[in-house]
Amino acid sequence: MKTMEGKIVWVTGASRGIGRATALMFAKEGATLILNAREEGHLKEIDAQVKEVSGNAPVLLGYDVSDPVKVKDSFHLIHKKFKKLDVMVNNAGILEDSLLGMLSPELVTKIFSTNVFSVIYHMQYASRLMAKDGTGSIINVSSIIGRLGNEGQVAYGASKAAVIGATLSAAKELAPAGIRVNAIAPGFIDTDMVKQLSREKYDQRLASIKMKRLGSPEEVGKVIFFLASDAASYVTGQVIGIDGGMLV
Ligand code: NAP
Repeated sequence: MKTMEGKIVWVTGASRGIGRATALMFAKEGATLILNAREEGHLKEIDAQVKEVSGNAPVLLGYDVSDPVKVKDSFHLIHKKFKKLDVMVNNAGILEDSLLGMLSPELVTKIFSTNVFSVIYHMQYASRLMAKDGTGSIINVSSIIGRLGNEGQVAYGASKAAVIGATLSAAKELAPAGIRVNAIAPGFIDTDMVKQLSREKYDQRLASIKMKRLGSPEEVGKVIFFLASDAASYVTGQVIGIDGGMLV
């Protein structure tokens, strides 16, 4: 029997990069998936891939994770359809660089709404669904920048540090209900997100990795999968770096 058969797994930001690789990993192990991106049309490719590897049709939800009304409506729909949720992966996020002196209130709001407020809303509703069964695993995607900071990334770094704070607090609150909450802090991962960096920044970042290479989305997905699985049944309130030794 596949290890995720009968499990309902929700991945935000599943159209590309880390989210897509993670979704496929769960699909291969038989999970029933709920997949999100800003538009349902962005999920066509992953939809076909999931059907191919698992035979299970995923539920596709196109909504902006920063919109609290859309998040609430989506949970209402999933509650009606499945009555339960086993795994919530809060992966959707944006990276927009700006030096502190140039940072506009609009950009700060956009980054925090997408990277932090979304995580809080999803944890709130997910934990209500999970609490009914007294079990569940929430995995929040932070970043090494939330721990180390970076030039030009005051808002992004602050948002990812906030994800860690939210994770640790929720882990304490939800442990008595049998719900585990952990965060991961990827380093430099080969996705569309890092393609927007200038050559100079790209080379600097690469040089700071002890393993001398970027990580793959699958290498991040494997850690998310571990945190969701029974192998991590006594793991909560942790922040796991996946960075090829950037922090060593
Ligand atoms: P990516 O390739 O740019 O993919 C981002 C995903 O998030 C896409 O599926 C995108 O969907 C979705 N998304 C963005 N804004 C959204 C919104 N408002 N509502 C719903 N979905 C939204 O990025 P990635 O590299 O895989 O990053 C995934 C997560 O890992 C992010 O939280 C990022 O901060 C974090 N991370 C990445 C790295 C790295 O080196 N790549 C390092 C540390 C942390 P659309 O198709 O709708 O655009």
